[in-house]
Amino acid sequence: MNQPTCALSKSNSLSFNPDTNDTKSGQTTAREDASKSGPNNDVSALQFWGVGMAFQNYVGGQWVSSDEVLENINPSDTSDVIGNFCLADQRDVDRAVEAAKTASRQWSRVTPQVRSDLLRKIGDEILACHEHMAHMLAREEGKTLVEARMEALRAAQIFHFFSGEAIRLGGEAIDSVRPHVEVGVLREALGAVAIITPWNFPLAIPAWKIAPALAFGNSVVFKPSEVVPGSSYELARIIVECGVPEGVFNYVLGTGPTVGQSLVQHEAIDAVTFTGSVATGRAIASSCISGATMKTFQLEMGGKNPFIVLDDADLDVAVDCAVNGAFFSTGQRCTASSRLIVQDGIYERFANALVARMDGLRVDHALKDGTDIGPVVSQQQLDKVMKYVKIGQDEGGTLSQGGTLVRREKDGYYMQPALFTDVSQDARLVREEVFGPVATLQRAHDFDEALTLANETDFGLSAGIATRSLKHATHFRRNSQAGMVMVNLPTAGVDYHVPFGGQKLSSFGAREQGTYAADFYTKVKTAYVTA
Ligand code: NAD
Repeated sequence: MNQPTCALSKSNSLSFNPDTNDTKSGQTTAREDASKSGPNNDVSALQFWGVGMAFQNYVGGQWVSSDEVLENINPSDTSDVIGNFCLADQRDVDRAVEAAKTASRQWSRVTPQVRSDLLRKIGDEILACHEHMAHMLAREEGKTLVEARMEALRAAQIFHFFSGEAIRLGGEAIDSVRPHVEVGVLREALGAVAIITPWNFPLAIPAWKIAPALAFGNSVVFKPSEVVPGSSYELARIIVECGVPEGVFNYVLGTGPTVGQSLVQHEAIDAVTFTGSVATGRAIASSCISGATMKTFQLEMGGKNPFIVLDDADLDVAVDCAVNGAFFSTGQRCTASSRLIVQDGIYERFANALVARMDGLRVDHALKDGTDIGPVVSQQQLDKVMKYVKIGQDEGGTLSQGGTLVRREKDGYYMQPALFTDVSQDARLVREEVFGPVATLQRAHDFDEALTLANETDFGLSAGIATRSLKHATHFRRNSQAGMVMVNLPTAGVDYHVPFGGQKLSSFGAREQGTYAADFYTKVKTAYVTA
């Protein structure tokens, strides 16, 4: 059997789509080129990106160009323009939604084997291309290459997982309470699903939405974040190259208020799955229910995740969890541990060890060996994070470590991870999501006070504790007001085969990932029959 090879890294003719309409032949050529040359995970092709042509949208089975383009800049080196990406317009959105609506009927009726095979192939191709995709991700988002590799591999795992789920999806047969009647509970596809995603995981989050949507017979209109279009473009290109039928998958890049909003308001869209900020989530929720047709929706939003350290914790484990949870991926994770709550007896030792570890973190170019923390994703996000550093100081907090801009060989959006002490529970820095490498350190006298502080938040995505006490670990797991709880593990870092989601303002609607994904991507029909 032929092993999949990475068509992406072989040919840029595929990337640039020089002619406006007939780009399919370009893709075939690229794929043929790649298969002739054998396995290829070469990343050198990336150097040619950004020279001239714009990356297109994929609408109704065709790559399409547009007048307006967006420049994608490397946050580790702002002189590096990764490429220009076409911004979809209203016509593209309308065509994409209509194509998805039409295709959904057919796609929901093909056998699960057909859907499973497609997802398997996509997973295989991502695996073959993961090095190339990881470079793109690190280059455009500022995630370190190590982290970016893990994300690309995760995207492949997710497609493989849902390849199996497509086959496994079943209903129920239940005895009726009436004689000679049988009841079946069937699961059916929703129809055309709009997928709207943020910039911080531009491969994994789209994967965990697109894969179950397709697995369970839905068609997709995918609007990725405009902040990091390159990774999602590559994912889209793989899906197309793997032979997704016309209209079943559409890719429309654009800003939230334009493409995002028109998608959500489009009457032919049946369901919306969204990950992003609370403010956008609220706007989407209200659009979904106020239109002529009410749409099913699912919202995954922000976090202000606590990590408790008790006196009996293993200090090394606690510090590892805190550093990883608070600062890795430049703190740009919804599950980041932005609030560290530490018991009196270990407070000084923990604080000293944490500061020592922070001192040793290397902030630098995301593609450089040895970099621990890459840049913040954009100038806008850096401004926001630095504004919070100032707010923290103005509120009376002590900036104990970092929180300053740093210069590196190349101009980029670099800052030293920040740690604040002496913060009150009411401080904005403790209550609002910063979404950058900034953490607060609070004291608690005992476990009960620590848990109270941890739960006193509008968010409820993830929560963690470092302790050797089974009693406290058990109590924490039961009483923590969060969708995901971690004992002696960072608040960030999850598995793909189990539910993902939060409580309070962090999530709304059905859980994502694992077998629970079927609860959102299918609707239930109860079928009665008597012979
Ligand atoms: P955002 O809300 O600004 O944007 C998210 C997506 O929504 C983007 O694609 C954007 O273009 C689109 N959008 C914006 N306005 C829209 C509108 N009016 N209608 C339709 N779409 C619109 O969020 P962001 O800055 O990209 O991402 C950061 C946020 O995402 C943080 O709050 C973070 O916690 C959250 N996040 C949550 C999870 C989770 O699973 N809970 C995971 C990752 C990120």
